[in-house]
Amino acid sequence: MSKEKEKCALCFKKEDYHGVWVFAEQHNGTISEVVYELLGVGRRLADQLKEKLGAVLIGFNIKKQAQRLIQYGADDVYVVDIEDAARFLEEDYAEVIVKLVEEYKPAVFLFGATALGKSLAPRVASRLQTGLTADCTSLEVDPEEKVLIQTKPAFGSDVMVSIVCRNKRPQMATVRPGVMKKVEMCAARRGNIIENNHIPPLKLRSQVLNFSRKQTEVQLEQAEVVVAVGRGLGKVENLKLIKELAGALGAAIGATRAVVDAGWISYQHQIGQTGKTVAPKIYIACGISGAIQHLVGMQSSEVIIAINKDPEAPIFDYATYGIVGDLMEVVPLLIKRIKTIKNLS
Ligand SMILES: Cc1cc2nc3c(=O)[nH]c(=O)nc-3n(C[C@H](O)[C@H](O)[C@H](O)COP(=O)(O)OP(=O)(O)OC[C@H]3O[C@@H](n4cnc5c(N)ncnc54)[C@H](O)[C@@H]3O)c2cc1C
Repeated sequence: MSKEKEKCALCFKKEDYHGVWVFAEQHNGTISEVVYELLGVGRRLADQLKEKLGAVLIGFNIKKQAQRLIQYGADDVYVVDIEDAARFLEEDYAEVIVKLVEEYKPAVFLFGATALGKSLAPRVASRLQTGLTADCTSLEVDPEEKVLIQTKPAFGSDVMVSIVCRNKRPQMATVRPGVMKKVEMCAARRGNIIENNHIPPLKLRSQVLNFSRKQTEVQLEQAEVVVAVGRGLGKVENLKLIKELAGALGAAIGATRAVVDAGWISYQHQIGQTGKTVAPKIYIACGISGAIQHLVGMQSSEVIIAINKDPEAPIFDYATYGIVGDLMEVVPLLIKRIKTIKNLS
């Protein structure tokens, strides 16, 4: 251990760390949806701990977003608004975050389990020599011991494990998008905006020359209605029926890994442990058995409608409405009915 780290270990006192922080991921000045979900769970945890909820906002020309974070539940927003941070570079963002943590000492620090969050959080955790639980699906606290209980699927999702980080601070976790509920926005909420103008210039070891988003028709995570398809589809040619149903409902198309592995649809559509997490208002599962690895990606949906020819299929244990039947017969009937209703209105 280096002299500096030894000194750090000796002066570390976990009692010095207070409050819950969330990382306010933003892209081109727009706060990511997952941040509002983190603020939702963060607010609950902070209230249980009787401590404050902070949000860390880093970027350039982003200060105006701080008030929005307060309206969604933050008490304090730590802003680093500098030109060097205009583009996300994990090494530089990690450096800024480490400085903020060393200065303000949060007890809990949450990131979205997004591509950005998954690359940033481990760097921060390793620099701070603390623990990080990736991909949490549930978070609780023990208010007596002030310990964060971080739950996630493990061992191929056959079991859920709860992990605690007793001796190091902050207790860090990434949280799956679409799992936690957002809080309601309250325009009248007041909080503190703490500007951190003293952060020294960043090293900027790399330079982003251009950034372009890949065009995709699938907006699964944002969709209010998802029509998802499983191996029960039988063959790729039958996918046109699912597309027709999705088109009639204005829905996005999801799929199980079985369907992706069969090459019937691209990985972008996969929902579940190794795919995306969704929580739409309506989720229609067509020919899906309900394996735990699929369920972890969609079980927070408000209404689940399952179509399966096997009345014993596990998906029915999670379904709000179940239709036992051949999807090749049921889906055309649904399309016909939806079209009739649309024509009437
Ligand atoms: C480490 C790991 C990670 C994984 N990650 C994921 C993941 O991210 N997402 C995921 O989905 N899976 C994942 N899996 C795979 C998962 O375990 C299941 O194998 C998969 O979800 C099953 O897909 P399915 O429901 O389409 O197929 P099946 O389990 O084969 O189910 C097909 C269902 O269709 C029904 N059916 C058949 N014909 C019809 C018909 N004509 N009409 C109506 N119903 C019909 C059957 O009764 C059956 O219930 C993972 C597995 C592992 C080990």
